[in-house]
Amino acid sequence: MPIPFIDLQAQRQRLGQPLEDAILKVVRSGAYIMGPEIAAFEAEMAAFGEAPFVLSCASGTDALVLPLMAWGIGPGDAVFCPSFTFAATAEAMPLVGASPVFVDVDARTYNMDAKSLEAAIQAVKAKGELTPKAVIAVDLFGQPADYPAIRKVCDAHGLKLIADSAQGFGCTLGGRHPIHWADVATTSFFPAKPLGCYGDGGAVLSKDARFHDLLVSLRVHGQAVKSDLEGRTFDHDPRYLNVRVGTNSRMDTIQAAVLLEKLKIFPDEIEARNRVADRYAEGLSDLVTVPTVIEGGVSVWAQYTIEAPNRDGLAAALREKGVPTAVYYPIPIHRQGVYSVYPTAPDGLPVTEAKAGQVISLPMHPYLTPDDQDQVIAAIRAFVKANR
Ligand SMILES: *Cc1c(COP(=O)(O)O)cnc(C)c1O
Repeated sequence: MPIPFIDLQAQRQRLGQPLEDAILKVVRSGAYIMGPEIAAFEAEMAAFGEAPFVLSCASGTDALVLPLMAWGIGPGDAVFCPSFTFAATAEAMPLVGASPVFVDVDARTYNMDAKSLEAAIQAVKAKGELTPKAVIAVDLFGQPADYPAIRKVCDAHGLKLIADSAQGFGCTLGGRHPIHWADVATTSFFPAKPLGCYGDGGAVLSKDARFHDLLVSLRVHGQAVKSDLEGRTFDHDPRYLNVRVGTNSRMDTIQAAVLLEKLKIFPDEIEARNRVADRYAEGLSDLVTVPTVIEGGVSVWAQYTIEAPNRDGLAAALREKGVPTAVYYPIPIHRQGVYSVYPTAPDGLPVTEAKAGQVISLPMHPYLTPDDQDQVIAAIRAFVKANR
């Protein structure tokens, strides 16, 4: 039996009838759009994520675009982000007319290098063509970025900070969630993410009531929201008063119902993911480079990513033994055609370029059994020993 890379069916079986009942309840209620599960889920997310405000939205990509829209970031503005990430992180900027500026990552954590960020900001300022406005740090593979260092750089230059926690929602640093340092934290509920739904979905966590209100408006076509209506009266339904250009980025009620069930077991799943990670480290650290988590950090292990010589040979050997692997990400974003026109940090991105050729991710999910995991470990050990 091949070992699954991510086993969503094992999770579904654990969630059992209550999950299916929750979906059916929405089907029968008819409240498919903005039903009561949406507000209930946003409240549960806020409690779990220790954020004053949570907005559910249509995807993790929209979750990045909406705050940029709310801040009025657009043409002529620079937003700094890593290149060693999923394309959506960088895509948010061109979608609002702004320019991404690519920053290198730390060689051990694969997360944004605050020194490269500082250098990139200074270079953009010196050139004078773009105005630095914001930074998007990514919690790559599930572990928190170096938020204390990145926040310091943002404060020195007056920049907003977004934590793109699509892979890392639930991760902590010194016991605190990324929103403790960031102005905004975003996540994705794509099914394969640590907290996923049964389709597309996303969320924006934030700390300021007026800003959250603006996101609520942007999510539904710029409709007038509480703060727009204060002290005004209307002779028509103010719901159809569109005071700004927004979009449609609602999350489906059914997805909120799914997520309410999944959130109940999420803390337990994070613990299980960490047990799997520990077992990999024990079985592999003498032969390959296993992940380093930032000091004080707890990862949610969206991926368990190792570095091995002859990565592609290893992938082929594992495939033959029924062990799937994946490479995240083989081509850094700044090397991809449409993104190669945007600026990078002044010294380039040497770490990003080196790592793209070395990393390989192993099966990782909370239901990976010790037996299956030992098969993965044994297959890797056999290949590495035979090839050195
Ligand atoms: C998945 C992902 C996104 C985008 O999420 P979608 O819900 O697929 O739009 C953004 N950033 C990172 C780092 C991701 O891994």
